[in-house]
Amino acid sequence: MTLPIVHHPGYRIDWPVRHPFPMEKFRVLREHLGALGFDNLDAVRWITPRPAGDRALLRVHGADYLQRFYLGDLPSAALAARRPPSGFPWSPALVTRTLLEVGGTLAAVDQALIHGLALNSAGGTHHAHADHASGYCLLNDLAVAARHLLAHHGLERVLIVDCDVHQGDGSADIFRDETRVFTLSIHGETNFPFEKRRSDRDVALPRDTGDIAYLDVLARELDAAMMTFAPQFVLYDAGVDVHAADRLGHFALSDAGLYRRDRTVLSRCLAAGVPVAGVIGGGYDRDLAALARRHAQLFLAALAALGHAREG
Ligand SMILES: [Zn+2]
Repeated sequence: MTLPIVHHPGYRIDWPVRHPFPMEKFRVLREHLGALGFDNLDAVRWITPRPAGDRALLRVHGADYLQRFYLGDLPSAALAARRPPSGFPWSPALVTRTLLEVGGTLAAVDQALIHGLALNSAGGTHHAHADHASGYCLLNDLAVAARHLLAHHGLERVLIVDCDVHQGDGSADIFRDETRVFTLSIHGETNFPFEKRRSDRDVALPRDTGDIAYLDVLARELDAAMMTFAPQFVLYDAGVDVHAADRLGHFALSDAGLYRRDRTVLSRCLAAGVPVAGVIGGGYDRDLAALARRHAQLFLAALAALGHAREG
């Protein structure tokens, strides 16, 4: 089976060196996947995305907000300190990379409908709301992709499995009244966002939750969502800020725990015959090599779920 991986070198842009958002992680992750042999595997097909267009974006975001985002007219209100920790320095390059990232998740969704499973080497900007940015998220790629599945592909039941350590408050709010999208968020109860929104299913776990407790909850919640909602598609946010060493998370998962988590979600979807698109989500370690290793677990788990042993 084929594993499409969506990547664009433009996911990273020049960035303030000490900025807390690790912009270089997209480059380092791509290099790490190359070092792991992903360029030499027959099963892997690299896909280069196009920037998301207005038709897709307007299904989620307001026209006025999009205009202000394009023009950089989001000064202190959205980009800077008022909604910490969003604080992104606006530039035309930031707009382009954000559109590429959303386009990457759209491409992953389209590929997953063909091949059953696909991954974006970015994405998971789940704090973005319809009309404002929040928590390092300007546009909500998961929401845009879910709307694309409903409107463009005619699906009727899309499940968002959000395993980032932070609650998917933007997605929850956007789909508050949308019965065709089920939002499942497993997150830290004391983490950002401090004012939680209501997902269809929220599971708030205490600080220092480790591999065993986490995987136990995940298996139970995933089974329940798959059984009761019977999704036709799963969008999976595989944030690695659940890792013990993450700067912004409060959980205690190991690298092996990340792998088992990702393998659990992907294998469960494949076994049920439900297409799944995975995005990398959050991860905030200044040690970029360690961070790339954590994000790579999703890609290794995908290969294994498809029955391919890693080579090289
Ligand atoms: Zn996060």
